Amino acid sequence: MSRTDEHTVYVGLGSNLHRPAHQVRQALTALGQLEQTRLNASSQLYASRPQGPQDQPDFVNAVACLSTRLSPEALLSALQNLERQQGKVKNRHWGERVIDLDLLLYSDWLIDTRALTVPHPQIQQRDFVLVPLLELAPELRCPRTGEPYQKMLAKLPEHFLTPS
Ligand code: ADP
Ligand code: MG
Repeated sequence: MSRTDEHTVYVGLGSNLHRPAHQVRQALTALGQLEQTRLNASSQLYASRPQGPQDQPDFVNAVACLSTRLSPEALLSALQNLERQQGKVKNRHWGERVIDLDLLLYSDWLIDTRALTVPHPQIQQRDFVLVPLLELAPELRCPRTGEPYQKMLAKLPEHFLTPS
């Protein structure tokens, strides 16, 4: 498949600073306005306790499904532009952030470069990614292993989502 074809892409969104729900909604709108890209669907907004440092506010998470003709590299760079526009600053590992946009899946492509790992390596460890992802695509399987994400969710040892 060539790079000019349209690809179905999933993006994970997270925020725990400066009115997180507002930040996530603003990013969803911005994703829909990217060139050569359509926003097909977005999940509900979910609340989660932080992983990593616990002295930070809870997160709001969501997942968006896009159709795009951008290459994975161009899309990552567009996501990083949006993060910068919303005021993301480099922070401690797994620390607080005004917005985080992760490229979770790019069709069924497997990408392992210095800048980009797809599928995003943390998908299967995070209920705050898996639950919104499965809300949009209940039958989705990991393109690397073929395992249904539903099964990975059932096996998770640790949970971050909080009732909202
Ligand atoms: P976090 O791991 O907390 O999300 P950052 O958002 O600061 O941290 O991302 C750090 C780096 O992760 C980026 O510079 C980017 O190159 C790299 N990266 C690798 N794979 C991906 C991906 N699938 N989606 C987003 N960023 C990725
Ligand atoms: Mg990130």
